[in-house]
Amino acid sequence: MRTIGHFIGGREVEGQSGRFGDVFTPMTGEVGAKVALASAAEVRAAVENAKAAQPAWGATNPQRRARVMMKFLELVQRDYDSLAELLAQEHGKTIPDAKGDIQRGLEVVEFACGVPHLMKGEYTEGAGTNIDVYSMRQPLGVVAGITPFNFPAMIPMWKFAPAIACGNAFILKPSERDPGVPMRLAELMIEAGLPAGILNVVNGDKEAVDAILDDPDIMAVGFVGSSSIAQYIYSRGSANGKRVQCFGGAKNHMIIMPDADMDQAVDALIGAGYGSAGERCMAISVAVPVGQATADRLVEKLIPRVESLKIGPSTDPSADYGPLVTRAHLDKVKAYVELGVAEGAKLVVDGRNFTLQGYENGFYMGGCLFDHVTPDMRIYKEEIFGPVLSIVRAHNYEEALKLPSEHEYGNGVAIFTRDGDAARDFAAKVNVGMVGVNVPIPVPIAYYTFGGWKRSGFGDLNQHGPDSIRFYTKTKTVTSRWPSGVKEGAEFVIPTMN
Ligand code: NAD
Repeated sequence: MRTIGHFIGGREVEGQSGRFGDVFTPMTGEVGAKVALASAAEVRAAVENAKAAQPAWGATNPQRRARVMMKFLELVQRDYDSLAELLAQEHGKTIPDAKGDIQRGLEVVEFACGVPHLMKGEYTEGAGTNIDVYSMRQPLGVVAGITPFNFPAMIPMWKFAPAIACGNAFILKPSERDPGVPMRLAELMIEAGLPAGILNVVNGDKEAVDAILDDPDIMAVGFVGSSSIAQYIYSRGSANGKRVQCFGGAKNHMIIMPDADMDQAVDALIGAGYGSAGERCMAISVAVPVGQATADRLVEKLIPRVESLKIGPSTDPSADYGPLVTRAHLDKVKAYVELGVAEGAKLVVDGRNFTLQGYENGFYMGGCLFDHVTPDMRIYKEEIFGPVLSIVRAHNYEEALKLPSEHEYGNGVAIFTRDGDAARDFAAKVNVGMVGVNVPIPVPIAYYTFGGWKRSGFGDLNQHGPDSIRFYTKTKTVTSRWPSGVKEGAEFVIPTMN
């Protein structure tokens, strides 16, 4: 049995706590590895290591730091296939989708290669007589990231690439359900030339997370996961004086206007609703057709597409999606489907009884489609995070706009239409952080920022893009005057630029 320890001081070390978690192979249902769960003392050891290494890394010129990132890009390209296989094995997503997971992370590493430019400060010559003012961005010191199971390559890279490029040392606490790829990424960073101690991986559960939140030497914490944990981490971390940004769960709507290209909308819904078994924070989980005729046309076209989804093991390149991450999660998703039926929604496609020959113990589930879902139902209000799409029929555009705007989550939303006026109005008014116009999964590219609103995001700066540089640095502003400009005598009035 493979055991996974921690990555501290530039190498993998064995866990000391005696506690382990199971890492499943979802396509077969077997336990593929055991992961060590760190104690508070092990987290502390990693932090001390990081703290000792950080000053020299922070003082390394930013072009050299960027070059480590450039080399890392090259090494991930070299190992792309093996990383994607490991990712698919532990997570369950298909190998092509696992490659996408890695790629979206690498794009943020590419962005971080621009750190010499991104970290530049401002300068004003002659802000007062012989007075110059300038600002500089400095690293925070030791910072941490706590990441979810559903993007085990992308989200760790979204966190550590900008943080490390800015000169910080990083403690990563990845999901204990699929820690293999984060450990490999840390090894590759060392191979790329990163000094030991700058990127550490501590595997673990709540005990490790709490140790991070209470550690006085960790200056900032970035989190991605479910909303209740996001809120807990935001409250506890900020109460301890840390800079904290937390991204939570989602219920992403796709509005289908009567003039939308229906085939295009159905394709978009199938991919965005069921891709990765619906385990994406930007998955579409609610379709909102506007008008009865639109709804009827949509349902008629969707039913055969959901019924013919190809579910397969992660290694099947022709599968639309693979198994869910664990049996516990599979059971939770199925329980939501049962709940939807009990609440009175119409289950028009029921994929609960799907099994895959040869993989009977895998965590598979067929696609489910609910029609006539209403906003008072729990299956509408709560995040299901599985291959389950709900249709909420809206009478008109105003009603459709209100649904995502009033939902407690506000991660992503999309509108499908040919009407520029409607799209523009929607983008301006909808109360959600990321909007797609005829784009079902509007994950912003690396040089823009990613972040949801309402219960999908806690804190005020987003992930990647310019916000990530702001989050992982502190600004110092210097006002300077050289002796020839110094006035004689003491001044008792507050200095002004008059
Ligand atoms: P999760 O909240 O269960 O776990 C996330 C992290 O928190 C893990 O590292 C886990 O070990 C840790 N954790 C879990 N329980 C904890 C506790 N009680 N105390 C302290 N730490 C704890 O989330 P998940 O199931 O791994 O991921 C799926 C969730 O993440 C979904 O809700 C999804 O929408 C969300 N997500 C959000 C985004 C985004 O950017 N908004 C992106 C991806 C995933």
